[in-house]
Amino acid sequence: MIIGGDRWSNWSGSVVCKPRKIVRPPDEVDLAATVRCAEGNVRAAGNGMSFSPLCDTGGTLIDLSVFNGLTGFDAGKSVATIGAGTPMWEIASLLHPEGYALNTMGDNDRETVSGAVSSGTHGSGWNLGSLSSEAAAFNLVLASGEVLRCAGDENPEIFAAGRTALGLFGMMTEIGMMVRPRYKLVKTYFVHSIDETFRQLDGMMQANRHFEFFWYPYDDQIVCKSLNETNARAPEPRSAPAMRARGERPTPKTLLQRTIYEALPFAPHLMLQPSHRLLSVLRKSFGRVRWSNEAFPSPRIVRFNEMEYSVPYEKGADAVREIAEAIRKKKIVTAYPIVFRTVAADDIWMSPHYGRRSAAISVHQYHRQNPRELFETCEAIFRAYGGRPHWGKVHTLTAAEAAKLYPKYDDFRALRKKLDPTGKFLNRHLGAIFPE
Ligand SMILES: Cc1cc2nc3c(=O)[nH]c(=O)nc-3n(C[C@H](O)[C@H](O)[C@H](O)COP(=O)(O)OP(=O)(O)OC[C@H]3O[C@@H](n4cnc5c(N)ncnc54)[C@H](O)[C@@H]3O)c2cc1C
Repeated sequence: MIIGGDRWSNWSGSVVCKPRKIVRPPDEVDLAATVRCAEGNVRAAGNGMSFSPLCDTGGTLIDLSVFNGLTGFDAGKSVATIGAGTPMWEIASLLHPEGYALNTMGDNDRETVSGAVSSGTHGSGWNLGSLSSEAAAFNLVLASGEVLRCAGDENPEIFAAGRTALGLFGMMTEIGMMVRPRYKLVKTYFVHSIDETFRQLDGMMQANRHFEFFWYPYDDQIVCKSLNETNARAPEPRSAPAMRARGERPTPKTLLQRTIYEALPFAPHLMLQPSHRLLSVLRKSFGRVRWSNEAFPSPRIVRFNEMEYSVPYEKGADAVREIAEAIRKKKIVTAYPIVFRTVAADDIWMSPHYGRRSAAISVHQYHRQNPRELFETCEAIFRAYGGRPHWGKVHTLTAAEAAKLYPKYDDFRALRKKLDPTGKFLNRHLGAIFPE
């Protein structure tokens, strides 16, 4: 997100940088020349929806928004090739006329496909992995300017690691995403007591295509949400411009939420419990049927900062209970729920879900409130449960910790060094986690 002529900020406003240059190359040849000749470090930016300083640079920031649209379609393999800078809200309008859709999505459609794949963005699902695991191939511009195609049978090591590589291997220009015949989802909300939620958790996770829950820690009930396939009638799919507008338009509900977030710090002890009950009620909404791309994301108008860690699924219930208890015990002021989702295991080297099914647990803080106490408290608990951070969200993981958590960490570092020997694609944040 460019703010002013020469500055860049992420969505939440927590990362602001002043690159020497912000470049929007018109094609792959120009991009390769830009990368090869760039002085200082070079970072690719998607739509700046990450909370961590992944795109932070004083060097060259590359905007790949020109790499947009459907560039290939292989119905036999169920793979659609999509320009790297294509926003998620646009993808359905490209696939729907072909009769196809993405297998899964996160709860936000403002990201670009390359930002989502590079950072391991995910939705929820017992048997569904992250969007990185849905990538079947990609084209990559290396630091040298060379262009590589990577897939299971072409540069397989770079493919295995490069699906969650945070822009460290190079610039993706197009990505082959796995697709399936288009489908509709029915969204259902229901409320359980805390004990009942945990008693039924495994069953609800397995019985629904997508299941997640929202726990406002000062409330004694939990809001559960499922998404399941249906043949029921859905409204006509929205056009791409309508999907774009939908994500930016405030609603009475978001205005009320913002008012609560603003007011809470002034009278926390009076307001925490009643506001959490009210926010639980507001979160619950009517069940409805929509095409998948409209069912997954919700408009996210009110800005916040977020931390998310993935812990082994079996430890998820204990971890989330401990987090809720710690927030209450320390009387931490937050107006957001703890969100609990599952993500299937994958084999992507630096994926938080490498080799294990995860419970992905996230906590949020309103962007005008200091998140430090909340995040420090929760991060200590996540770490104790063997948590691996979402790379696009706030975390303080060090190189030594990463080496212990990711079995392929050393291989990833070695491959990064081979592909980018001068560290062109590193910035300060990433250099600390993956030192040269
Ligand atoms: C409101 C909101 C809701 C969210 N919901 C979810 C969710 O449901 N699930 C989830 O997992 N995450 C979620 N996130 C996090 C978000 O999906 C990720 O951080 C994602 O990376 C953002 O995509 P982006 O296009 O904005 O990429 P950016 O944040 O701009 O970049 C992310 C990374 O991708 C790299 N990158 C971008 N383009 C390229 C390219 N062409 N080649 C190589 N590298 C590239 C960047 O260098 C950077 O390292 C949410 C974030 C917000 C703000």
